[in-house]
Amino acid sequence: MSGSEPRATALTPEELDELRARADREAGSFVDARVQAAFRVHNPEWAAEILGRPYGGPYAITWPELYLLHIAVQVEPTPPPPPRATAARLAREAEEADAGRAAAEEAAGREAEWRELVDTLQAAGVRVEVRHNYTSARHLEFYTQGADHVYLLDPLHVGRLHRDADVALCHTPSNAPNLAYLEPTTDGRLPSCQTCLRHMRSAARRLAA
Ligand SMILES: [Zn+2]
Repeated sequence: MSGSEPRATALTPEELDELRARADREAGSFVDARVQAAFRVHNPEWAAEILGRPYGGPYAITWPELYLLHIAVQVEPTPPPPPRATAARLAREAEEADAGRAAAEEAAGREAEWRELVDTLQAAGVRVEVRHNYTSARHLEFYTQGADHVYLLDPLHVGRLHRDADVALCHTPSNAPNLAYLEPTTDGRLPSCQTCLRHMRSAARRLAA
């Protein structure tokens, strides 16, 4: 049997022929309600192997076919895993693992970029930390509620960017009221404010040059 396709049943073709002949002999013309009520198959792939044709569910088979499957379940109580469903499951699991790895790599990339930006500013004497904004003033422009901002612990003067200490990098006179309450974070989160990140990147580029 080496090199052959995996099958959903361990019954040999000869055993299947025997089983089908037995079903023809025993089934009779009348539906046995008890057999019908107890009817189940292991899985559709297994049922298709036993029937020798695709299995479309209990309402898509004749009484002799139902009887054949009924005795096949007794002859083979624990068939091998259905190959197509198993392969599909393994492919799905591999895909999920790939997606998980990609997400982890992306997160690690963002983390590494952030560390590099922090180090570059720190080397220039500018310490920053990530602070969360709980203020809820939604009506103002350029304001993202609940964002995590880059908070300056030291003043920053690089290029055209001038900021005092103790403000967010995205701080401007017009959005200052929205950024009045910035709370320190302790969970190692990265900044989510894109304006802060943009300023941080351009400041780091100039400082590194
Ligand atoms: Zn910001």
